[in-house]
Amino acid sequence: MRYRKGLCDTCVGSCCSLPVEAVLSDLVRMELVDPFEIEAGTDERAIAKQLKRTHIIDHYNAKSGKFTLARRANGDCAYLEQQTRRCTIYEKRPTVCRNHPQIGPRPNHCAYIEK
Ligand code: SF4
Ligand code: SF4
Repeated sequence: MRYRKGLCDTCVGSCCSLPVEAVLSDLVRMELVDPFEIEAGTDERAIAKQLKRTHIIDHYNAKSGKFTLARRANGDCAYLEQQTRRCTIYEKRPTVCRNHPQIGPRPNHCAYIEK
């Protein structure tokens, strides 16, 4: 559906059930990675291993530097509030979420599903 302002108010938040690829700077903003670790030169792979072990991410792609955030069993993003269907970390959400649906495979379109 073509996106328009206010559409999210009546949507189940279907875009928050798609895999989210975050970069390291997103993870710092989300307070999942300590900036000190980056300053100290900790390898991204080591950070990814730790995040995977604690079920914060599902996957890490060393080539692209993308961390795929963990999802719930129902496919929802772990940060999507189940009753309100709103993001619980809205101010700190990853860049890819901030840019949706303006940037993506079909700009300004999204997978709206009525609540
Ligand atoms: S799918 Fe579209 S309407 Fe629904 S929450 Fe995402 S951007 Fe908003
Ligand atoms: S971080 Fe927030 S906006 Fe991004 S997918 Fe998860 S719930 Fe949705």
